[in-house]
Amino acid sequence: MRSIIFQLLAAYTVFTSSDRGYFWHLTDLHLDPNYTVTTDPGKVCPSAGDQLVTDAGKWGSYLCDSPGSLINSSIYAMKTILPDPDFILWTGDDTPHVPNEKLSENAVLDIMKWLTTLILQAFPATKVYAAFGNHDFHPKNQLPTQNNSIYYGVSELWRTWLNEESIPTFQKGAFYSEQLESIGNVGRIIVLNTNLYYDSNNITANMEDPGDQFAWLESQLSNAYQKGEKVYIVGHVPPGYFEKKRGKPWFRERFNKRYIEIVQKHHEVIKGQFFGHHHTDSFRMFYNKSGNPIGSMFIAPGVSPWKTTLPGVNNGANNPGIRVFEYDRKSLKILDMVTYYLNLTFANLESPRWEKEYRLTEAFLVPDGSPQSMHKVLEKISTNHCFLQKYYEYNSVSYDLETCGESCKIDHVCAIREVDFTKYDECVKNESSSSKPHVTLVVMILTCLFLN
Ligand SMILES: [Zn+2]
Repeated sequence: MRSIIFQLLAAYTVFTSSDRGYFWHLTDLHLDPNYTVTTDPGKVCPSAGDQLVTDAGKWGSYLCDSPGSLINSSIYAMKTILPDPDFILWTGDDTPHVPNEKLSENAVLDIMKWLTTLILQAFPATKVYAAFGNHDFHPKNQLPTQNNSIYYGVSELWRTWLNEESIPTFQKGAFYSEQLESIGNVGRIIVLNTNLYYDSNNITANMEDPGDQFAWLESQLSNAYQKGEKVYIVGHVPPGYFEKKRGKPWFRERFNKRYIEIVQKHHEVIKGQFFGHHHTDSFRMFYNKSGNPIGSMFIAPGVSPWKTTLPGVNNGANNPGIRVFEYDRKSLKILDMVTYYLNLTFANLESPRWEKEYRLTEAFLVPDGSPQSMHKVLEKISTNHCFLQKYYEYNSVSYDLETCGESCKIDHVCAIREVDFTKYDECVKNESSSSKPHVTLVVMILTCLFLN
């Protein structure tokens, strides 16, 4: 009896409430300042391009980037749900999807200023670790590796969040590394500018190590190891493939390789990777040479509901999403993740209602968000149609309720499992040759009901 009490006490001290911390991950706000609710379907928002917008409402449209009302509503939903987080990760893409000629350097800076002010007003005392997205530059995607007026302007805008020591690397390459102040000196946040690795960035196309960011990252990780710190890596454009379009990567191949090598080498200190850019909700796995899970990357859904115009993507819109992570303040282990969302159709018809979409551990029946648990989630998705379908609905933030068939399953499972380009191709090939005829919707629904 005494030993049971002792064990219970020990378990309690491991996870007292002070060890469990919370932080927000916010991404892809994409403000469209010219969004207007009008009866002319061609004049609602520049971000819809030539598409006719027939679902425009006060809170937005699935064909458009975010109106200010939607972004305001998302930030104040965060304030209501979790008003005092340890910190906020904000992973970029602030401006609308419009041709370069419709924006300018000043327009980009004005939009970033508007969003920064809004976040500062709602969370005046919270540290924000903010990253650049590929849309946070003019011309878009062309983020350089030297001082320029946009990096300088944004360093001024984010002055309240940035430590003095972060300014030199920030102004040179929009990346920086800071100790996680809110929890003492056991943690570190490394904010990367992975837009330098984006295959649409022509400036860095022929560089070996743009901005010397890889060399800098390695030294940051080695130093962290020596000091006994654990690290979260934060960025916008993720490595690996887009799960909604087969064979669509974002990084140039050599940059993708280098990123994976660094994660494999320093995995002991990297306790989480947090990215955006997709607008969808997904994750990526990293394995060692023996195939054991050593890291995972969480790709957070965007606030912008904008339906992607990427050719070959079916139905690529999403409901607006925001996300809380629960983590252990001493080890930085990810304990859980809760995603909140706004059903945009309902918001426009009735009122904006931000609600819990799902909690990782409840939805996928895993103990936490560690790489081992995320590997289990992947196993469940790849072997059980009910979990696959659940993941698939969350992937578009409960917008796309179609069935994820065999080909869709291969796209998602291979993108999650293989960040490496060659291994991804092999995965697609192997899965395609072993794929079984897709179960019918009726059979699937019945199986899922039975399992529940
Ligand atoms: Zn992006």
